[in-house]
Amino acid sequence: MEPPSQVSLRGKKQEIQKREADAEIYMNFMKSHRCYDAIPTSCKLVIFDTTLPVKKAFFALVANGLRAAPLWDSKLQKFVGMLTITDFINILHCYYKSPMVQMHELENHKIETWRDVYIQYSNHFLISISPEASLFDAIYSLLKYKIHRLPVIDPESGNVLHILTHKRILKFLRIFGKKVQKPAFMQKQIQELGIGTFRNIATVQQTATLHDALSIFVERRVSALPVVNEQGKVVALYSRFDVINLAAQKNYNNLDMTMLEAVRRRSCFVEGVIKCYPYESLEIIIDRIVSAEVHRLVLVDRADVVKGIVSLSDLLQAMVLTPAGIELLLS
Ligand code: ADP
Ligand code: ADP
Ligand code: AMP
Repeated sequence: MEPPSQVSLRGKKQEIQKREADAEIYMNFMKSHRCYDAIPTSCKLVIFDTTLPVKKAFFALVANGLRAAPLWDSKLQKFVGMLTITDFINILHCYYKSPMVQMHELENHKIETWRDVYIQYSNHFLISISPEASLFDAIYSLLKYKIHRLPVIDPESGNVLHILTHKRILKFLRIFGKKVQKPAFMQKQIQELGIGTFRNIATVQQTATLHDALSIFVERRVSALPVVNEQGKVVALYSRFDVINLAAQKNYNNLDMTMLEAVRRRSCFVEGVIKCYPYESLEIIIDRIVSAEVHRLVLVDRADVVKGIVSLSDLLQAMVLTPAGIELLLS
């Protein structure tokens, strides 16, 4: 018979081993699947030549229901970057003066002209990934470079096969991760796990102008803003994606409208605000964010006052990179 102290020591050791194995489940899942595995069988892809006028490019994104496109430089004969809604926001923010003054730069600039102006503040090269690379590597690139679009490029043909996003990767985990054992930490509360951003949350008042919101997007580099009333209660969510409505409705010349008006005018959006509470479990939160197909949940208290943001970046960092000993500064 072993003495009781030895039995309890062995019990503790087993418990630690189980916890470590638990923590590594999603990291191992992402390491053992390739980017190729997460590519849908068919999807729409649009590529822009850098000589295309920027205005036409954003209209083309709208017309095709897309959020981003790789940029092809025909002189260099290679992909040189991405055009995303963040670029549209930066252009509007840079050149907007008032509703009465036309933005000649938006009307006349080619993509390459804009890139010459902006490149000093942005990524200098295209960040891409091979289809044979692991999803773990894709997550690492998305989070390290703080981007939301990662083109998968076939090294042999040089063709873009797909544009990977956090959403696609988490959806892939939800569909194909069913076979892996659910780790015990999935039942823990989000506040206990500390997943998300809980301080210095960028919000916008409902009475502020759309131009104010664009300034916050540019300065804070956040992907979305909870729209709040005077009591700090969340009344809507305005994401970078919603700014493309201005191109769709051709009303980007009026950035003086209030946020309430901008929210009302959105044509394609999610009904209500998708929220979460600090006492909810990680499992419930992942279910909600994946089902709603949104990039983040707004963390609120019982009075609906904004207390934090739980974004797909935070979830992937905690579930996949932290177990590998990688801690990236996300915000
Ligand atoms: P959004 O959230 O609007 O889709 P991102 O966060 O992905 O935009 O983009 C932020 C900035 O980084 C933009 O200027 C965009 O052109 C650039 N960018 C996005 N993806 C890549 C990439 N794969 N390689 C290089 N630059 C990129
Ligand atoms: P993307 O697919 O570019 O990551 P987002 O998820 O940021 O886009 O936004 C897509 C749409 O979903 C936008 O209309 C945005 O306002 C809405 N949306 C995103 N997150 C939330 C949320 N937590 N609550 C309500 N609507 C949201
Ligand atoms: P995202 O750009 O949404 O993938 O998130 C990158 C990081 O920024 C994450 O840590 C988020 O929690 C954080 N974040 C997103 N939106 C906001 C916001 N409005 N205010 C503060 N932090 C945010």
